[in-house]
Amino acid sequence: MTSEDFEIAVVGGGPAGAFCAYLLSRAGFSVVLYEAAQTIQRKVCGEYLSPSASRLFEDAGLPDFLSDRFPAIEGILFHVPDGRTMEARFPEQEGRPCHGYALDRVVMEEALLKAAREAGAEIRMGCKVRSLRREAKGWELLLETGEKNNRGILIGADGRHSVVAKELGLRLKYATPRIALHCFIPGQMRDARFGEMYFYGDGAFLGLNASPAGHINFSLVCEADQAKKKNGAKGAIAHYLDQSHDLRDRLAWNESIPIHSTYPVNHSVSNFIDHRAVLIGDAGGLYDPLTGEGLYLALWSASCLATQLIRMKEEGSEEVDVYLKKYARLKTRHFRWKNRLSVFFQWVLKRPKTVNRIAKYLSATPQRSEAFIGMMGHLYPPSTGLRKILFG
Ligand SMILES: Cc1cc2nc3c(=O)[nH]c(=O)nc-3n(C[C@H](O)[C@H](O)[C@H](O)COP(=O)(O)OP(=O)(O)OC[C@H]3O[C@@H](n4cnc5c(N)ncnc54)[C@H](O)[C@@H]3O)c2cc1C
Repeated sequence: MTSEDFEIAVVGGGPAGAFCAYLLSRAGFSVVLYEAAQTIQRKVCGEYLSPSASRLFEDAGLPDFLSDRFPAIEGILFHVPDGRTMEARFPEQEGRPCHGYALDRVVMEEALLKAAREAGAEIRMGCKVRSLRREAKGWELLLETGEKNNRGILIGADGRHSVVAKELGLRLKYATPRIALHCFIPGQMRDARFGEMYFYGDGAFLGLNASPAGHINFSLVCEADQAKKKNGAKGAIAHYLDQSHDLRDRLAWNESIPIHSTYPVNHSVSNFIDHRAVLIGDAGGLYDPLTGEGLYLALWSASCLATQLIRMKEEGSEEVDVYLKKYARLKTRHFRWKNRLSVFFQWVLKRPKTVNRIAKYLSATPQRSEAFIGMMGHLYPPSTGLRKILFG
């Protein structure tokens, strides 16, 4: 095998791409990461990092990466249509308290890219990949500047509007009619140790997270038609704030606050792998941001792929595709039940009475609400979560 076979192109410097570049460079691969933006930009995101995602940093040899930079959160407050609030704390794991984080994504992504650079990756900011061409020994990448680069293995980590997925012919047209509206609003969290979610009964939901910069990270996901009917983004935000008992008082919303939007909020692919090419993070498909698990998916898929490629190198194998198939199988298995649960939740969200009943049942004991959030946050598989919820 020549060293060229191990030369890797990572397209996209978000959490998936940066984490993968870090893990692979550290293991001795030659990695070039292409990021379209000149500098890391703030993205439409609730910036809540689940406990299961934070563990991936520990496993990657970065134990203090999060605690040194961001405030920890202990759970989530769920506000349901009948006005009830369910407090769900992350369950203890192996006798230790478990927490997530309220991130600042610019800080996180810059730090991850720095770690990747220090591990030996070449980070090329302001380099947008425009198209791809299959070569005998890998891929030719054509950059927007006209420059051409050849690499042996291609990793698409370029998010929900993935050019790599499109060029590989893996992108599916399926999209939900939902739009996300995102902004930072001055105001107070009910309790900064908790993230918050509001459900409205018409399928819309709203997430709040303490932002380290002192504002509240606000994201609203609703049907794009609903936003149009409410006279656009500002009208939609005002409409959903007005429906919530205490939100209007706690958030100093005004129409001059800049709103960012993204559409569609999901991304579907027919497969995550091709010959010497693979998709990770949102590029490989994201059902919906409801469960706040997109960052977990990004980091987990980066870590799972890196583990397979490192194994290939250690075993002296040349069969890149065999290891990519292993990655695809593991990913499918790991997220199968969670994806089904997400589909179920989308259905439930449009049924306010069912949402109220479920919240009443779950909030009856701390064990049930803990089991629910443990299942949602990948702390244990849905089968274990359901057993804990139903039988204690
Ligand atoms: C409203 C909303 C709220 C959310 N809230 C949460 C939350 O609270 N917690 C959570 O865990 N997840 C949340 N998510 C999901 C989360 O934001 C994503 O899952 C996560 O950003 C995926 O990371 P990624 O690295 O795969 O992609 P991205 O973060 O999208 O990064 C992709 C990168 O690729 C670059 N790129 C794109 N095209 C090219 C190209 N052609 N060439 C080079 N570079 C390119 C982009 O500039 C970008 O930097 C939310 C999503 C939405 C829509």
